[in-house]
Amino acid sequence: MNEPKHPSVIAREALRRLASSQLAPTPANYQACYNEIANLPNVPAFPEAQLRELLGELPVRNEAQKKQLDRLSAAIAKRSWQGVKESLAAFAQAGESRLHEVGMHALAPALPGEFAGKLARFVECVLPALGEEDSRILSVAGELLLLLRQPAVDIGQVQALFGSLTYQAVFAAEEQVEIKGSLLKLLHLIIENIGELSTDDSWLKGQIDGLLASVAPPLTLRHLDEMERRLRDVMEKQGRAKSRSVEAQAEMRHMLAEFIERLGVMNQSSTEFEGRIEASARQIQQVSRIEDLKPLLDDVIAATHAMAEETAISREQLKGLQEKVVVTEAELIHLHQELDSASALARHDPLTDALNRKGLEEAMDREISSMRRKEAPLSVSLLDIDNFKKLNDSLGHEAGDRALVHLADVARRSMRPSDTLARYGGEEFVVVMPDTKLEQGIEAMARLQRELTKAIYMAGNEKILITFSAGVAQLAVDESATDAIRRADQAMYLAKRAGKNRVMGG
Ligand code: GH3
Ligand code: MG
Ligand code: MG
Repeated sequence: MNEPKHPSVIAREALRRLASSQLAPTPANYQACYNEIANLPNVPAFPEAQLRELLGELPVRNEAQKKQLDRLSAAIAKRSWQGVKESLAAFAQAGESRLHEVGMHALAPALPGEFAGKLARFVECVLPALGEEDSRILSVAGELLLLLRQPAVDIGQVQALFGSLTYQAVFAAEEQVEIKGSLLKLLHLIIENIGELSTDDSWLKGQIDGLLASVAPPLTLRHLDEMERRLRDVMEKQGRAKSRSVEAQAEMRHMLAEFIERLGVMNQSSTEFEGRIEASARQIQQVSRIEDLKPLLDDVIAATHAMAEETAISREQLKGLQEKVVVTEAELIHLHQELDSASALARHDPLTDALNRKGLEEAMDREISSMRRKEAPLSVSLLDIDNFKKLNDSLGHEAGDRALVHLADVARRSMRPSDTLARYGGEEFVVVMPDTKLEQGIEAMARLQRELTKAIYMAGNEKILITFSAGVAQLAVDESATDAIRRADQAMYLAKRAGKNRVMGG
């Protein structure tokens, strides 16, 4: 064994080796050279400062990592490499397990399949309402639908596409509102135009006014349905009137032509007759013998015969024409009557503008199917004005008519927009109330009673209090309109028996 070298010798040699080995002249490298020459194990100094620097820079993502950093700090303080190694490994693990958790979330569809399906259906349903002109909406929606139908739905992507779709949809919806407004204006214009063409017919005018009043927001399906029915009535009546009057006009023109022709023929034959008679008269003057007169008289007789025959033919023909005129005239009268009775085919009562029986029938059909489809309640009420006969007797029939109009006006104001008013008979009305249970129906009719006492009806200077009795029935799922109205009628009858001016449930 060699004598251990003196530290000063070792130090000098270490300096030489550091210089010749081209190592950086750091204290750590000097130490390494020194240890090697002195035959000491090469244990580097504990890098406390560097470790503390590292500790300050490590990003903490969760509680577990923070705990490990505390452990690391304690290990550094104790200069324990083991502690440093363990805490750093645990620190890394804690960070990894969190990343792992996040990864698991991304894999397991954060958007459950059922919800993705619902969202897809929602996008599909809403899309047609936004119009089909905007290609950007269509492409974003298409992309979103494709994404939503994948087995694992990436919520981040859905969020981005849905946001973009919402942004575009806001513009599209605004545009749709404008389109609706413009369509309504256009419809208004068309109806006004139809009105201009037919101002001579009071029934048509009433229908047109009603139509104009109904062409107003909100554009509900019920509203549009009502407009359509009214327009159909107006068009049907106008169409019939037009084609029939065109026919009648053609017939008249034809007859006029025949008259003129006949007049011409008559004129011609009488001129011929005059000529023949004149010639015969001249010859007769010159005749001296009676025998010569005979052929001339035969001539005159023949001419007269011919004339008489011609006249008879003309008379027959004229008689025929006259009969035809009478028939056409009768037809025209019939046409007028038919056109007047067309109002009976219409769906509205001309006096009150409420639906008539036919209109009520259609409205009930529609509401009953809607009730069954939506599984929502539907109630009907039948109301009958109290002591109406007395009102008619004391103030006259016209005042009675105006009272009916007044009641219809107040009812329309008091009802919900979805309710329907129909004139069922003389002074009887039916109110159809969708989405309404029996108790709510009774309450609605009681409200109408209160409104009616507030809205005083004036007959001249006289204030008249109009009251009514009403019965309400809520339709059973399989009940017909007729049966339900009958039940409401029976309840109304009970209300009359109980002293009038009240509402009863059936
Ligand atoms: P109640 O309280 O029992 O109902 O008595 P009421 O007088 O109202 O009942 P009633 O059924 O006996 O008479 C109804 C009257 O309504 C008879 C008829 O002259 C009148 N009426 C029916 N339709 C019209 C109409 O369109 N205009 C007018 N002015 N009167 C009508
Ligand atoms: Mg009655
Ligand atoms: Mg009555």
